[in-house]
Amino acid sequence: MNWSYSGYRQFQKCNRQWYYSNIVAHHAAKDPFRKEVTVLSKLKTIDAWRGEIVDQLISEVIIGKIRKDRGLDIDKLLWVADRKFDEQYEFALNKKYREPNVILSDYNKFSAIIDLDNDQALDKTVLNRVRNDIHQSIRNFMSREDLIDYLRTGTQWLTQRDLQYPFSKFRAKGRPDLIVFFEDEPPHIFDWKVHTFAAKTYQDQLLSYALALSKVIDIKPHKDFPQELSEYDVRHYKLTEFQLLVNEIRSYSITDYDLSSTENNIASGLLAMYRVGANRKYSDCSHEEFPTTFDPSNCEKCSFKSICK
Ligand code: SF4
Repeated sequence: MNWSYSGYRQFQKCNRQWYYSNIVAHHAAKDPFRKEVTVLSKLKTIDAWRGEIVDQLISEVIIGKIRKDRGLDIDKLLWVADRKFDEQYEFALNKKYREPNVILSDYNKFSAIIDLDNDQALDKTVLNRVRNDIHQSIRNFMSREDLIDYLRTGTQWLTQRDLQYPFSKFRAKGRPDLIVFFEDEPPHIFDWKVHTFAAKTYQDQLLSYALALSKVIDIKPHKDFPQELSEYDVRHYKLTEFQLLVNEIRSYSITDYDLSSTENNIASGLLAMYRVGANRKYSDCSHEEFPTTFDPSNCEKCSFKSICK
């Protein structure tokens, strides 16, 4: 049983949804029901898909260029954005992820959208809005020349790196969008968000990443981590959330209190999951043991609606 920020948020929203995603879904499942649940677990809302495309553009293209010390061209970025949008939309529209014998791991990136899977066509206005939001997010990133210059001063840039460490008798994990290492400074962790109103802040998520990075450095640093990282106290790590759509950068510092509340939150999350038996295998539990949500609005955007009893 693993704790992650997003996994635990899903668990809090609906225990049943977490059960489908984490216990029933399995990439090697042969049983038709489990296979279907695995497909459903890949489906995203259109807005979550929008955020994924922006993440991919930043991780693969923008950070890729920064890593090679190359220039960035806004027109080329928007062109790549459109190509990704068109290719992934086509993939989702034709439900390619449902083709027999398809091996999703063969695809570097694939998309599966809830509405399209339910044969609900997406209105042209919705598609235009999503395309424009992607463009706007990239434009806002590119308008932050100070940030781009700062990122170029790094010595290493790790995107979407899995950070896992033992927590009590379970495991906790995090996957920050970007970790930057510098010659003589502590690591800087970034999280990109594409939210229309950006009302919620994500300090708690970034704190869980800082804790994960410090634990991994202490316990078993990854082979490509710089040697001197252990010199830095986690309280000196830098944390930044960039709300791309509203062009707002939110930076957070780390105190002892932040660290102990992050550890307490993880511990109580794991305990809550353990109490319903989230540590068990598929064959040892049933859907009835994982309560459905108390808030019916969660069901509106849930990809498991068709099979949820
Ligand atoms: S349909 Fe509703 S109750 Fe069922 S898994 Fe989804 S959110 Fe939970």
